[in-house]
Amino acid sequence: MQKVSFKIEGEAKTVKLGALLSKLCVPLCKELKRSILINLEGDLGAGKTTFSKGFIRACGYDDLVRSPTYTLVEPYEFSDFSVYHFDLYRLVDPEELEYMGIRDYFEKTSVCLIEWPDKAEGLIPEADVIVHFIYSEQKRDVVIESKLLEQSSLEQISEQINK
Ligand code: ADP
Ligand code: MG
Repeated sequence: MQKVSFKIEGEAKTVKLGALLSKLCVPLCKELKRSILINLEGDLGAGKTTFSKGFIRACGYDDLVRSPTYTLVEPYEFSDFSVYHFDLYRLVDPEELEYMGIRDYFEKTSVCLIEWPDKAEGLIPEADVIVHFIYSEQKRDVVIESKLLEQSSLEQISEQINK
């Protein structure tokens, strides 16, 4: 398991982290022609949605990125890939995932950003990347783990993020 950890101070850095990971994961999902799952972990207010906004905007979407708190998923379709942004916080019954056809999302050339993945434990495939946000008042500690991304790529992110 490849792993890196660093500190980021201020919302803009969390947006930048989303953008940096999109530059790694989007080319990879196109190359592998499959879905790449990014689990976003951390308490309420830790930065998961902020990260997702940075990721989605870096893909070329310049409209408002909405938090999918009530819809569970918000789709973003680009010409040759998609980003599906999930927020499973309000998931009560796992059957809801069946109704929305969750499996289909994981069979596309896509990146799936998943807030609160533990609410659907056992129902979604294993993550390719886990981004863990640890809350402090003015900053966040971030731990990224991945079996898919190379250690050198993760280290590049940690070097670039605070430049
Ligand atoms: P979550 O989706 O995890 O509940 P949000 O992204 O909605 O969290 O909210 C995170 C809050 O923390 C926002 O108010 C944002 O401005 C702030 N924030 C995000 N990243 C940082 C950071 N690196 N340092 C300080 N504050 C941050
Ligand atoms: Mg959120």
